[in-house]
Amino acid sequence: MRYSNLSRLAPRSYTVTATAAALALGIYTGSLVIMNQRRPLALADAGTTTTTTSSSTSAATAKQVVFGGGLGFPFVSLPLESAEMVTHDTKRLRFRLPSPDAVSGLPLTSAVLTMSWPKGSWTPVVRPYTPVSSSDEPGHMDFIIKHYPSGKQSTHIHSLHPGQTLTFLAMPIKGPRWKPSSSTSTSPSPEHVTLIAGGAGITPIYQLAKGILRDTSDTGTAMTLVFGVNTDKDVLLRDELRDLERQHPSRFRAVYAVSELSRAQAEEGEGTSDPQFRSGRISRELLEEVVPKPDRAGRVFICGPPAMETALVGGGRWGSGGGRPGILEQLGYQKSQIHRF
Ligand SMILES: Cc1cc2nc3c(=O)[nH]c(=O)nc-3n(C[C@H](O)[C@H](O)[C@H](O)COP(=O)(O)OP(=O)(O)OC[C@H]3O[C@@H](n4cnc5c(N)ncnc54)[C@H](O)[C@@H]3O)c2cc1C
Repeated sequence: MRYSNLSRLAPRSYTVTATAAALALGIYTGSLVIMNQRRPLALADAGTTTTTTSSSTSAATAKQVVFGGGLGFPFVSLPLESAEMVTHDTKRLRFRLPSPDAVSGLPLTSAVLTMSWPKGSWTPVVRPYTPVSSSDEPGHMDFIIKHYPSGKQSTHIHSLHPGQTLTFLAMPIKGPRWKPSSSTSTSPSPEHVTLIAGGAGITPIYQLAKGILRDTSDTGTAMTLVFGVNTDKDVLLRDELRDLERQHPSRFRAVYAVSELSRAQAEEGEGTSDPQFRSGRISRELLEEVVPKPDRAGRVFICGPPAMETALVGGGRWGSGGGRPGILEQLGYQKSQIHRF
């Protein structure tokens, strides 16, 4: 199933399909895992791993790939190693992989499905989340997860204590495909990619930006991130984004659109005096100012709440219903240039 068809807050049809699959798999093969969610599975139990070889050493090193999508056991249950609040409603959680050498092995822009089975319910709750750690990071996998007050899975995940486990489906959900680009003597100007995120929608956008910058075959892509948040305290992954800017000053830049600057901040000019922090929502004017004019090669990747995405891509042939042109169309982007997570 294509990732871009999924809404981050309303995973309706997708959940139905995934739930049916999970339920079927659960009945036939996985009930042991679901019933024993509190027992961390040993790697051999998980059965989701495949092996791969690292070319960086002359002696081939076998790596355990937990989300290889092979024909192994369909579920893996991972213990929570640590959890910390990073904003008033969002946690950063680290789950331990089955061995210190194991890696997630997820392709760039992928998410994973988590599953829990609420007491008394006939069906499991299945929701996707996007790791913010790299796919080759050994031993653990990190997530940034926002808590919705009546949200089933985010409430469950936020209630977990270190040592308790969460069940994952071992099959990755692949996102939009990324093809590396490089600057050559005939085409020296780098491709520019615009990344637009809102709230917890930063997770796949960050994964993509970091993946592009770590890819040694991609020397041509430059990126501008426009990140919409409610207050400046809601900027998730701020240190990580700052690191990307420091390490790749000519290729990565972030601008934060803060919709609710506090009165004190506004009076003192705090936030607004920093050119990285702009007051207000992501608007046509802001995009015109901070990202290059669209050319045929430029791409835009978007992930955020439904209202933000609708404002950007509009309705009708671009979005779903309404027919009003979105900000990106007004700026001159073609539909084929826009990729939604
Ligand atoms: C591919 C993908 C990757 C994702 N990665 C992450 C991630 O890394 N981190 C993260 O925090 N989330 C991520 N999400 C969102 C996540 O999957 C869940 O949707 C989210 O955690 C809410 O699930 P829940 O069971 O807690 O809430 P639900 O029980 O599904 O309800 C969510 C809450 O939102 C409200 N709500 C439901 N639908 C809408 C809507 N359309 N508009 C506004 N409000 C609505 C409900 O009233 C409820 O309060 C991702 C989603 C997708 C599709």
